[in-house]
Amino acid sequence: MKKILVANRGEIAVRVMKTAQKMGIKTVAIYSTVDRLAPHVKMADEAVCIGEAPSNQSYLLGDKIIEVAKSLGVDGIHPGYGFLSENASFSTACANANITFIGPDAHSIELMGNKLAAKETVKGYDIPMVPGLDEAITDIDKAKQVAAEIGFPILIKAAAGGGGKGIRIVEKEEEFESQIQRAISEATNAFGDGSVFIEKFIGSPRHIEIQVLADKHGNIVHLFERECSIQRRHQKVIEEAPSAVLTPDIRKQMGEAAVRVAASCNYIGAGTVEFLIDEQLNFYFLEMNTRLQVEHPVTELITGLDLVEMQIKIARGEKLPFSQSDLAIKGHAMELRIYAEDPLNEFLPSVGYLETYQLPKGEGIRVDNGIEEGMDVPIYYDPMLAKLITYGKTREEAIELMIRAIQAYKVKGISTTLPFGKFVMENQAFREGHFDTNFVKKNYSAEMIKAGYQDEAEIAAYIALQKYLEDQKQLRLSN
Ligand code: ADP
Ligand code: ADP
Ligand code: MG
Repeated sequence: MKKILVANRGEIAVRVMKTAQKMGIKTVAIYSTVDRLAPHVKMADEAVCIGEAPSNQSYLLGDKIIEVAKSLGVDGIHPGYGFLSENASFSTACANANITFIGPDAHSIELMGNKLAAKETVKGYDIPMVPGLDEAITDIDKAKQVAAEIGFPILIKAAAGGGGKGIRIVEKEEEFESQIQRAISEATNAFGDGSVFIEKFIGSPRHIEIQVLADKHGNIVHLFERECSIQRRHQKVIEEAPSAVLTPDIRKQMGEAAVRVAASCNYIGAGTVEFLIDEQLNFYFLEMNTRLQVEHPVTELITGLDLVEMQIKIARGEKLPFSQSDLAIKGHAMELRIYAEDPLNEFLPSVGYLETYQLPKGEGIRVDNGIEEGMDVPIYYDPMLAKLITYGKTREEAIELMIRAIQAYKVKGISTTLPFGKFVMENQAFREGHFDTNFVKKNYSAEMIKAGYQDEAEIAAYIALQKYLEDQKQLRLSN
């Protein structure tokens, strides 16, 4: 592979190009008109404007991207995450154009991209599942009966959903019918597929997922877990590895289950098998993401591997250079997703001009970043701008370093999740490892951050006053 086109933007495009460059592979960026000055464009050896700002006129135009790739002699396409990364026909179109899609083949994407097809596929592989009705709901009365048997509250999920979208909680039986109708119409609009199903609502779960790698020679390994329970709107904000609660035995069981999930769809490449675990540490299969995951850096830090390099090598047909017994966890890594949204105002999107943007630096600090000072943050795309990752010998070290790195991360012009990250790192329950996916609902309120600010403002005022008095004294002395 001599030249890779990165069919993405932002931090993940930059991340992929870094590894390509390290491996001596040339890079091609694509960009939309609003992204023409973006870091991923400047970083690439070649860059091509692919269309207007809306994704469906640029980053989602698979055929056009393949045309660009062909005309520039590209031999591999890396899709990143989001956009075309889980699009089976794009994977096929790449293959038809004799370009290597750096990801799994269309068959695995199709099976695992749909939550119902995935459940069907892993049946028979001894994978524990969340109780529910594992088929698209067509008969409401039957669904209602199953829901009553499982017990309310229950979840309605869109089979084609993702990124935390397409999930609805139903508290009472009376709301069931109207919620199902709403879920079907929402799923039809958002994903072009109205299939929805129901799942038992696990009350206090932790989201723990397993990274897998599979080569084209039948070898599959897992790279341990990532804990991703700190979420808002069913979407992750803080992730870490390893989890504070897994025992070696459960880690092994979950790892082996994840490898079986990968085997069930003849998976090739890097993938993630997501599980929920309950308070008794029983684990249940949620879904498989057939791509590089946003939070892959925490796994890289605790294993010392470069996952993008592994993806490229696997795509080139190379064998995994290690087996399961060669792999071990070293240290602890923490990640904060820097979203352009306001944690003081319901995490609502915040866009605008980046007046100041300075990254923290130092040993154990990694920033995967896709923007720079003086840029406008566009409204068209995912609001995640960057990821702040810290690494230490212990969980405490990673947390302390995260607090210092957040303080050194200077952003002016837009609101971000940085203050939220600091709040979580300082929270006692989080530090003790006592939390689940309800953490934000249970422990967080904007008022608490605001109160913190007030203290800081008071401290600042106090220091200013002391300095003023000090200066006055000196003035008097010198007179
Ligand atoms: P990850 O699954 O890697 O932990 P996210 O859930 O935040 O992270 O998803 C990563 C990106 O992929 C986000 O931009 C999200 O909006 C997008 N995404 C994932 N699945 C879908 C989907 N089915 N439809 C639309 N966007 C999706
Ligand atoms: P997505 O494709 O949007 O990532 P997932 O099925 O992975 O959808 O679920 C996203 C999040 O929603 C989980 O991490 C968890 O917080 C919550 N969730 C999903 N299923 C359940 C469930 N059965 N019970 C409780 N929470 C759930
Ligand atoms: Mg998920």
